[in-house]
Order: sequence, then C-alpha cells, then structure tokens
Amino acid sequence: MKFKPTALVIGAGIGGIATAARLAKNGFQVTVLEKNDKPGGRCNQILHDGHRFDTGPTLFLMPEVWQETFEALGEKLEDHLALKRIDPTYKVHFDDGLQIQLTSDIGEMQSQLEKVEKTAFSGFLRYITEGNKHYKISLEKFVGRNFYNIFQYFSLSNLPLIFQLKALSKHYSNVSKYFKDERLKAAFTFQNMYLGLSPYDAPATYSLLQYTELAEGVWYPMGGMYRGIESLTSIAEKLGVKFIYNSPVKTIRTERDRVIAVETTDGREYSADLFIGNADLPYIYKELLPASNEAEKLDKKKYTCSTIMFYWGVDKIYPQIAHHNVFLGGDYKASFDSIFESHALPEQPSFYIHAPVRTDPAAAPAGQDTIYVLIPVGHIDETRNQDWDALINRARQTVFERIEKDMGITDLKEHIKFEIMNTPITWKQKYNLEKGAAFGLSHNFWQVGYLRPRNRHSQFQNLYFTGASTHPGTGLPIVLLSARLTTERILKEMRAIISRKQDNPSFVISET
Ligand SMILES: Cc1cc2nc3c(=O)[nH]c(=O)nc-3n(C[C@H](O)[C@H](O)[C@H](O)COP(=O)(O)OP(=O)(O)OC[C@H]3O[C@@H](n4cnc5c(N)ncnc54)[C@H](O)[C@@H]3O)c2cc1C
Repeated sequence: MKFKPTALVIGAGIGGIATAARLAKNGFQVTVLEKNDKPGGRCNQILHDGHRFDTGPTLFLMPEVWQETFEALGEKLEDHLALKRIDPTYKVHFDDGLQIQLTSDIGEMQSQLEKVEKTAFSGFLRYITEGNKHYKISLEKFVGRNFYNIFQYFSLSNLPLIFQLKALSKHYSNVSKYFKDERLKAAFTFQNMYLGLSPYDAPATYSLLQYTELAEGVWYPMGGMYRGIESLTSIAEKLGVKFIYNSPVKTIRTERDRVIAVETTDGREYSADLFIGNADLPYIYKELLPASNEAEKLDKKKYTCSTIMFYWGVDKIYPQIAHHNVFLGGDYKASFDSIFESHALPEQPSFYIHAPVRTDPAAAPAGQDTIYVLIPVGHIDETRNQDWDALINRARQTVFERIEKDMGITDLKEHIKFEIMNTPITWKQKYNLEKGAAFGLSHNFWQVGYLRPRNRHSQFQNLYFTGASTHPGTGLPIVLLSARLTTERILKEMRAIISRKQDNPSFVISET
C-alpha cells in the first residue's frame, strides 16, 4: 500500500519554501499557509514607480549551499539564477575619513592595509586562514548537522573543536591579535551585524564570515535577491506544493503529545500528519501554541538587533556610492553597547547602503537610482521608552550628514522621489518577528548548536521548526541548511514511525 503523508508549513519564508519543496520531493503532500500576499518573508521585494528594492538580504553568500538545495530538488542553480560576483565587496568608510575597499585582490588588500598599519597584511593573511579553518569545521561539525541529544553536542570528539573554533573567546578580542589599529579591528568584525550580533559578544568563531565574503565571494543574482525566492517557490510548486497566501495561522491545536490542526484567522482549519513552523520560533511558542514555560524561557533569551530601513527612489545616480557601502560610526564599542544593551540608536550610528543599479541597471528607470539604507538599532523593548519617530528622523539625518561628509553628496534629499520605510515595528507586525529582532534569536555560545531551540518540539512530536531562530541560525544559506536538517530529521523519524505504524495507530498517514 502506498502512503502519501501530509505536511503543513506555517510561513513561506525561505526556510518554509525550501522545507516544503524538500518534503514534496520526498513524497509528501505539502501545503504552505502564509500570512502575507506573497512568499519570501524577510527576503522580499518592493516594486514602486519603476524601482526594484530587495527589502532584507542583499548579500548572496555561500553559493555552494544554494547549489546543494537546487540539486536536492532535482534542479540546477545556473538554470534559475545568474550570479555575478561583487568585488570589491564593500567600500568601508571610517569616521575620520579613511576608506578601505575590501576585496579578494590580495595585492590591493596589501597596499591598502599597509598604509594603515605596517604589519596588518600578515595579520590579515593569518586572520583569513583562521576564518577558513572556522568555516570548514563549523559547517561540517556544527552547522551542517542535527544534534539529537546533548551528549552528541558536547561529545568528547566535539570538545576539542569548541576550542579550535575559539567558541569561548569574543570576536573583538580575538581580532586584536591580528590588528592593532582600531579601524582595522572594526573593518574585520562589523560583519557580525549580519547575525545581528555585537563583536564584543559574538564568539571568535565568526571570523568565518570575513573568510566567506573574501574567499568564497559576495554574489548578486541578476534581477535581485528575490529571484532566489521566486525560483525556489516555482520549483516547490512544480513538485506539487500548494501555497495559500493571506492566511495567517491564529492557533495551533494540540492533543496530548501531538498537533492535530491549525486554524487561520478566517476560521479555516487545516489538519495534517506533520506540521512545520517557519514563522519566527519564539512567536510560535508565545502566540500560536498553548501557554507554556518554554515560551517564557524564550522571552528571556538574547535577541538580535533590529533595523531601520529606508528605500529611496532617486531621480539621479551618484557614482560615488558603490554597490555595497558601509559607514562606521565613531565610537565602535559604544555603538554596539547602545544597540545591544540599551536597545537604542547609537549617538553616532553606523549604517549600510545598497545600490544595486551599479550591477543591475534594471533595478531603476534609466538614469535613476534605487537606494536601500540599513541602520542597525536595538530591538523593541517594552521596558524602555523608545520614541521610534524621533529615532527614525535622527537615523535619516545621520545618513544625509555622513554621505555629505564622506562623499561630498549635498543634494540627495532633493532628489528622493519617494521613501518607503521598514522599522522594528514593521518587522514585528508584518512578519511576526518577536521583539522586531530582524535576524531572530541571537547566536551567542548559549544559543547555538544543541543549545539553540531545537527543530522539533519536545512535547508535540509531529511539530517541527525551520528558519532563522532554530538550528543552525540566521542568514539565507544558513536557513537553507536549516531546511535540509529539518527535512532530514523528519525523514529519519517518519521512517521509524512508518515502520512502527502497526503498533502506533494514533499516527494517521493519509493514503493516496
Ligand atoms: C534587513 C535584513 C538584512 C539581511 N541581510 C541578509 C543578507 O545580506 N544575507 C543573508 O544571507 N541574510 C540576510 N538577512 C537574514 C535573512 O533575511 C533571514 O535569515 C531569512 O530570510 C530568514 O528566513 P526564515 O524563513 O527563517 O524567516 P522569514 O523570512 O521571517 O519567514 C517566515 C514567514 O512566516 C510568515 N508568518 C509569520 N507568522 C505567520 C502566521 N501566523 N501564519 C502564517 N505565516 C506566518 C511570515 O510572513 C514570513 O513570510 C537579512 C535580514 C534582514 C531583516
């Protein structure tokens, strides 16, 4: 007899889409319920007046992980995405006027670094070598696998690796072993912000980020990051996945140790054999599942930062602005303390500008520009008085002043045709991100690996999770790994369940 188990996915973020597609490829009948009117979640797109903005991710990293996803779905990445390498990766602007272009061109890096600090180039080579070691070990031994119990994670064979990965050292103090100049220390740690982490709190393991960018490359899919979402969604549909949009799940209904159904806000009920939560994990525990201690514990965990985003349609092009630009505020430590301890906007905010027209002219009407600005800010904290309107105005003003100082651009304000914003409140309301934390739960030592909320609920045995706040963590390629790991776990546990099915009549598998 042939069984076709059914699976229901809550959320069509990249984690939900990739898990749905993998399950469908493995014979499941899959339905995805998405709150909003299109897939992608944080990796979304705004189309306005001929301008195309990616709303969240702009750095396409670890292409080999994307490649593996497409292959697992029976497709080839190159048939779907035209990737272009962006090199130099960023133009980094320091508060005192210094500019560095991070690039994979070793000779160019040498001449730039030695102008700042005589011994910096040898420090750079050692640092990137360490990043390579961290990347390889992390991917193979920690990030790219499931941990089914604490003994696997803290096994005798893993313990030496925790030290090799410098998981107990802080990233900023570790980088100080390679560079003396404060600006270089900043240039090789600010990338922690992608994980929504302060380098003063992040494990030194994350030197793997700088390695990834410079050695494996920062890429851009022509047509924008959202092409990745469109491709994966169309592949999932081809495999039979049914996407239902504008359908927020209101409640997850449970009975003893199982989820039996979900109910949407319009009163519809959906049952399935398995359920996969892709919406932010702490939100699912807090808002969709029955009240539990677990939800309270999650509330006390550390969360990543949030962001204020400006999407500007501009009627002229400023050639001074590169594809990726980073502007670092003056007091590096104080700015992270402000974001991560006070949950505020630093006195001198750092920010990032994405200008895709440099690579992809179709992102704006001819002769015009599409400008995305990301300003990291503390997440929503109800115990503090956060005046978002005032913070947003100050953030906007900082951007204008800084690009005037660093780039001589004095008239941007007059050339902005329209402004669209995303704020911590938008992240929370639109995507149900707990505390508006743009990157989900934080990734300090106590919140990674087996210590991160696991990808299966401990009580409800047929409820799994995929996405940024479960194992292994945030970032598009890492969430693609999450989709692989969750699927592997489901298949492993399903096989066991199917083989025990005769003894386990409470588990219903629908027949085709
Ligand atoms: C500003 C910003 C910049 C970033 N930059 C990068 C970058 O350059 N490179 C990179 O790799 N990563 C980057 N990231 C991180 C990356 O975007 C995320 O890690 C990834 O998109 C998370 O995907 P996900 O599937 O876990 O969650 P989400 O994208 O949050 O998807 C979850 C989905 O669930 C839906 N949902 C929520 N509640 C419900 C409900 N009740 N019922 C039904 N559906 C629901 C949401 O609408 C959403 O579609 C960035 C993120 C942000 C915010």
